[in-house]
Amino acid sequence: MAKQYLLTPGPTPVPERAALKMAEPIIHHRTPEFEAIVAKVREQLRWLFQTKEEVIIFASSGTGAMEASVSNLLSSGDKALVIKGGKFGERWAEILKAYKIETIEIPVEWGKALDVKKVEEALAAHPEIRAVYVQASETSTGIKYPIRELAALIGPRENTLLVVDAITALGVFPLPMDEWKIDVLVTGSQKALMLPPGLSFAALSQKAWKFAEKSNLPRYYFNFKKELKNLQKNQNAFTPAVTLIIGLHEVLSMMQEEGLEKIFERNARMARATRESMLTLGLSLFAPDSPSDAVTAVLVPSGMDAGKIIKHVWEKQGIKIADGQDQAKGKIFRIAHMGYIHEPDLLIGIAAIEMALKDLGHPVELGKGVGKALEVMKK
Ligand SMILES: *Cc1c(COP(=O)(O)O)cnc(C)c1O
Repeated sequence: MAKQYLLTPGPTPVPERAALKMAEPIIHHRTPEFEAIVAKVREQLRWLFQTKEEVIIFASSGTGAMEASVSNLLSSGDKALVIKGGKFGERWAEILKAYKIETIEIPVEWGKALDVKKVEEALAAHPEIRAVYVQASETSTGIKYPIRELAALIGPRENTLLVVDAITALGVFPLPMDEWKIDVLVTGSQKALMLPPGLSFAALSQKAWKFAEKSNLPRYYFNFKKELKNLQKNQNAFTPAVTLIIGLHEVLSMMQEEGLEKIFERNARMARATRESMLTLGLSLFAPDSPSDAVTAVLVPSGMDAGKIIKHVWEKQGIKIADGQDQAKGKIFRIAHMGYIHEPDLLIGIAAIEMALKDLGHPVELGKGVGKALEVMKK
């Protein structure tokens, strides 16, 4: 039996404090007791999203809030723009297609940075574009997209929204919604928020709420306006994920105790330690130009199968890291450093990768990657 560690970009480990709260007997959702928790969580979510707007909560994985950000904002005949440089950009395109929205795509080579000029040109060529859908952190490739620049470009346009999937970004690096003028910010529970899967969130700017007023696409469960009305009374339209919301109150309290600035600094340091240790081991980064502080995608030496490294660290050490998806399968492995993954956990992960590399015939001096990580962490 091996002790198990999750170093995957979702789900991530759940802190004991939250797990214990969630182990308490279930309470009813139409009670003053639960409503008091919802009231606190509403305030805490505004703090996390750095917004004065209400943050809508759904009982679903992150994709639910993504779908809601299509079905509640657009209308039939609308055009949308998608930044497509990985699995999750593809997901935006698939959702838009499911709702028969005509979509213009900006393809970005996997692992490569986005040139904002291309978005500017597309908007100039198609001024009828009603929304731009993008990831803040494209988890499948480990890249970070320039949200601040996109918001500066799209924010002033009355008729276009910037919709940001921040599922592995919010609570990892700065994305101040109101200050940057992001129109829609989406996240989920099982990444930086340290909870089990099952909650998704979306906050809308006043401009986005105007779109929601006019939207005519079909929808039922995922209904922003209905949830907003209920949330304002500390209620949910349907049975909420009571247990997860109780856990949410606990993890957000933990985050508030540490403070956003400190969390961002710690995540940036862990990301840097991971990147530098991998480079020291002779590996390279899949997204070197603009790496995300949530997850590092590591390119393995040619001729080596990333799947073998992943299997080795799992079978020999009980450590779960993620593989690449689709075109990146076998070429990369991904280590997460967000949420309740802290510095000592990463050292364990890096040590296991060193052992795997050595066993698989890649020349490494054991301890070199860990040593490099320690140097970065010590600063
Ligand atoms: C995890 C993730 C999602 C949501 O996936 P679910 O499986 O629905 O929770 C969406 N976008 C990104 C960037 C993610 O990392």
